[in-house]
Amino acid sequence: MTDDITAPRRRAGPLAAPGRIKDISSAANPIVKDIRALAQKRHRDETGLFLVEGLKLVLDGLDAGWELGTLVVSKAALLGGSEVLTRAVSRAVASGADVIEASAKVLEAIARRDNPQSAIGVFRRQLVPLAKIALAPGEVAVALDRVRDPGNLGTILRTADAVGAKAVVLVGDCVDPFSLETVRATMGSIFSVPVVRAKEAEFLAWRQDFAGQIVGTHMAGTLDYRTPDYAAATLLFMGNEQAGLSAEMAGTCDLLVRIPQAGRADSLNLAVATGVMLFEARRKALTL
Ligand code: SAM
Repeated sequence: MTDDITAPRRRAGPLAAPGRIKDISSAANPIVKDIRALAQKRHRDETGLFLVEGLKLVLDGLDAGWELGTLVVSKAALLGGSEVLTRAVSRAVASGADVIEASAKVLEAIARRDNPQSAIGVFRRQLVPLAKIALAPGEVAVALDRVRDPGNLGTILRTADAVGAKAVVLVGDCVDPFSLETVRATMGSIFSVPVVRAKEAEFLAWRQDFAGQIVGTHMAGTLDYRTPDYAAATLLFMGNEQAGLSAEMAGTCDLLVRIPQAGRADSLNLAVATGVMLFEARRKALTL
């Protein structure tokens, strides 16, 4: 099994074999147990699958061409005549996905909360190999050194999407981009921004051939973040929430910049700092 975004995928649309529809009312059903297990990283890694909550996000995934394995929908909402849900079921079946018409108990068990959304998708995850990341002058991507907080990562993916960043590179031991919390915080951008996972050594090796600039953000940075012109292909390198950029990662940057602060806060939240950097880099690149 491969996560490579460029690997051949199951055919979708009219050429795909239609999926099956099942009616499941018990949370003890083995299929439901398998889906619930995707809350754990180990199971996501073993299966290459992840959960997406909510009809809008599921449709975002289908629109972006990601492979939907199973769609779990509220049987009550279908019986209540929800047209959007009925259309989503037809689309899912046509794409080859199985559909589970589920009781409220089953949806609550999978979402692990009361009042769950009326649709939950099980998608096949996609990661891009680091070697495939190439940036043209003026383009920007983000690298994150050991990001730990799922909400931060989701917000960064959403912000990277909003500015048209070309990729988010997760360096070292990072939180899983396909956890339910991260996917929730991306608001659908998980399907739009190429995500790369790289060990530190792999990143350092790739860096040797990277023709652009790596702009690191650091509390000890001597350069104001508005000083660089960001005309070159730019990789913004952001540090861990507690420790910042490691000395080794800071050492591989071409520039170390700082966002000036007033007041008593030691630093900005990682996702906020990433947003400030991304918008500045895009603003400068677009006005050159
Ligand atoms: N105690 C950590 C340190 O001293 O690096 C603070 C880490 S901060 C919460 C997480 C990351 O956000 C930093 O590594 C950096 O990438 C970015 N960041 C936060 N505030 C920043 C600022 N004022 N200037 C530049 N980067 C900042």
